[in-house]
Amino acid sequence: MSAKHVPYRIHLSEKELPESWYNLRADLPDLSPYLNPKTKEPVALDDMKAIFPVSLLEQELSTERFIEIPEEVRELYRSFRPAPLCRAYNLEKLLDTPARIYYKYEGNNPSGSHKLNSAIPQAYYNHKAGIKRLATETGAGQWGTALAVATQLFGMECTVYMVKVSAMQKPYRKLIMETYGANVFASPSNLTQSGRNILEKDPDYMGSLGLAISEAVEDAATHEDTNYALGSVLNHVVLHQTIIGLEAIKQMEKVDEYPDIVVACCGGGSNFGGLAFPFLHDKIRNGKKTEILAVEPAACPTLTKGRFAFDYGDVAHFTPIMEMYTLGHDFMPPGIHAGGLRYHGASSLVSRAYRDGLIGARSVHQTDVFKAAIQFAKSELILPAPESAHAIRTAIDEALKCKETGESKSILFCLSGHGNFDLTAYEEYLSGNLVDVEYPDELLEKGYETLPVI
Ligand SMILES: *Cc1c(COP(=O)(O)O)cnc(C)c1O
Repeated sequence: MSAKHVPYRIHLSEKELPESWYNLRADLPDLSPYLNPKTKEPVALDDMKAIFPVSLLEQELSTERFIEIPEEVRELYRSFRPAPLCRAYNLEKLLDTPARIYYKYEGNNPSGSHKLNSAIPQAYYNHKAGIKRLATETGAGQWGTALAVATQLFGMECTVYMVKVSAMQKPYRKLIMETYGANVFASPSNLTQSGRNILEKDPDYMGSLGLAISEAVEDAATHEDTNYALGSVLNHVVLHQTIIGLEAIKQMEKVDEYPDIVVACCGGGSNFGGLAFPFLHDKIRNGKKTEILAVEPAACPTLTKGRFAFDYGDVAHFTPIMEMYTLGHDFMPPGIHAGGLRYHGASSLVSRAYRDGLIGARSVHQTDVFKAAIQFAKSELILPAPESAHAIRTAIDEALKCKETGESKSILFCLSGHGNFDLTAYEEYLSGNLVDVEYPDELLEKGYETLPVI
């Protein structure tokens, strides 16, 4: 039990901003190498130079435990970090739980989510390497927004392939990206061969994250001055996000706390890894007993029902083959509203930690998720992103368990972003039209059949 009075918001000063990111790879030896999608041999750094700067590739493959954050990046971080750690007193009261609930709020920047934590260093390293333009995909729109914001800080151009269904559902997201200077195209587009191939077969295709990735990678690979940037999944992205957990540890220390349970939603795994990996470091090296939970939608159950296998990161087989939990790279997301959680795979670091039993995973249904989102919005006064609300659901479930057992556990979750641009989803929930979607078992089998033979 904490002896100190805990304020609603626990701040760190600018000076206390972490100086390094934490690299879980140092503590998870024997990670399988990425494989070249054509030869299926381990990729060499050179294979990926066409679309990534060497500095980021070195981070991708590094086994160094702490990697220094460049001062230029820390300077830009300072305009929105350290991010507050909040004690959810009002939610605790509403639930009448003895649990102590904390959340790390990452929505307080122009992208509205944690994604800016990686967009800034990615733009920085590409700019340093002389790259003029970054191409990327966006599903829900948060990553495209973050990269649009970050590229203009360095005077770079930004091209965003936005999954068509999201572009239609979220016109304001497209406008924000354009306001920050990005060129946004609905994917499938006719700008790339991957897009044209799909459009020929099905002109009404509504797009998927896997296809938008193919379009952005193709764009980068076919233009000398252009690189590709990914908003999740890859090691260097999760590395940049560890600033979330590193700050949270310092903030909890200030009030003599350490979480019993750490929770985050998991799409590609970057906000989850970002919050959880520094705590996992304590668990692996310092014997902490923290329960660490990744939460995903029942409609896209990558960790809870997927297979740990080698798979491509995209539809067109441009990306390296990675060992991860996957539903198969042709995965077609059922209609769910957590756009950022619709990816077929998960970070290989998150996947490996899960396979090794270091973390747990839960899947939750979207009506339960929105119920939790609204409880949270009404008590804590922040409208959460539908993705983040998956973490809220599980945090509430754990707090309600404490109510039954009388245990006073300390629960920390990641509020990865706000939902101010996700009101279509809220509208559907409030009007009673949102239904629960379970990913059908027959599709699981079909997905496994598409896995490459290694
Ligand atoms: C993109 C996004 C996610 C999911 O991506 P991860 O890489 O799994 O973190 C979760 N929450 C928000 C707010 C997002 O924008």
